[in-house]
Amino acid sequence: MTKGTSQKSSLRAVERQSDKDAVCPKCFGTGLEVTPEGAKRCICRVRFDDADQNKRVKLPRRYDDCHFSNYKPQNQSQTAALRYATTFTMEYPAVDRGIIFMGTVGVGKTHLAVSILKGLTERGFGCLFYEFGALLKEIQDSYNPSTFSSELSVLAPVLNAEVLVLDELGASKPTDWVRDTLGHIINTRYNDKKLTVFTTNYLDTRPNEREETLEDRIGVRTRSRLFEMCKSVEITGPDYRRSSDLRR
Ligand code: ADP
Repeated sequence: MTKGTSQKSSLRAVERQSDKDAVCPKCFGTGLEVTPEGAKRCICRVRFDDADQNKRVKLPRRYDDCHFSNYKPQNQSQTAALRYATTFTMEYPAVDRGIIFMGTVGVGKTHLAVSILKGLTERGFGCLFYEFGALLKEIQDSYNPSTFSSELSVLAPVLNAEVLVLDELGASKPTDWVRDTLGHIINTRYNDKKLTVFTTNYLDTRPNEREETLEDRIGVRTRSRLFEMCKSVEITGPDYRRSSDLRR
């Protein structure tokens, strides 16, 4: 067996074991294993390759190229957002609030949220990515009419992930069920002191009479809880995808 293969199977054994016990038997959840040579990074925190990593955090392949290193700030708000995101990633878990990136389409909110997620995953923290609409669909698809309930297997990882990235908040039609589901996720994670990074195309103040605010989309109570558990980081600018000058 090669070193890599034995490391992988050893990790899987540790994972199987830690699934059962919830705590890694080698490092007892500290991420550091004490050996006769000194403390070293525990194998339960080792990541093998990006693909493995992205699958684990359910990151769609279209985000493969999003990294801090290729985010090019176009204005002060983007420079500040990049700085906040990198500091958050380096200082986690010594941070007390998540982040909500707010701004119009294409200013790089998801790019930064994904970069945070990759950075934290590399540091060994358990992260999960969901686009909010896709999560709702998975919950709906798992609905069992005979038990009048949805599969807990869909929601449990979302509630339990150490750090959750919830992309495109407010994009789904705000029915009572959507609001209740979001409220449940936010409240459970808040009560468990788990950090969440959100992105939304909706702003907190109404840009004009025709546009809806984040509060219109998610309700006053959830909006209030959200701002209690997150620092809001507003990003301005044109849609990067449409602006070929910016991409050079
Ligand atoms: P948003 O989530 O704000 O709608 P995205 O993060 O999805 O926008 O960005 C749209 C596309 O533009 C993505 O491919 C992203 O990588 C790219 N992008 C946006 N802003 C920047 C930037 N400042 N530097 C580099 N790429 C960017």
